[in-house]
Amino acid sequence: MDENCIFCKIIRGDFNTDFVYENEYLVVFKDINPKAPVHLLVVPRIHVPSLNELDDKNLLGELMLGVKEAAKKVGLKSYRTQINTGKEAGQEVFHLHIHVLGK
Ligand code: AMP
Ligand code: ZN
Repeated sequence: MDENCIFCKIIRGDFNTDFVYENEYLVVFKDINPKAPVHLLVVPRIHVPSLNELDDKNLLGELMLGVKEAAKKVGLKSYRTQINTGKEAGQEVFHLHIHVLGK
């Protein structure tokens, strides 16, 4: 838990965010500023600032499976995934997340 991190606060339940899907490793919620008709964020429960700080292969696998499960849950058969890593690549929230974009 990082006290200054918006995603940590969401995970803690501070904003009563509706989770599209969740399990012991991750939560999935809708992006507040969607860039596609369906835009989800797959977010690990632990605070990892970006992909550059992730060494846990098991968590990496769980996150990708989370993408698949969340897509299935909302009825997306076709979708794109994106991970922005670092400011210059457009990362704004420094708590690792995978964008899932579809129609
Ligand atoms: P990135 O640019 O990869 O760091 O993506 C951060 C994403 O988080 C952006 O698409 C934002 O719209 C989204 N975002 C920021 N704050 C919130 C929030 N409170 N709830 C849902 N999504 C958010
Ligand atoms: Zn965080």
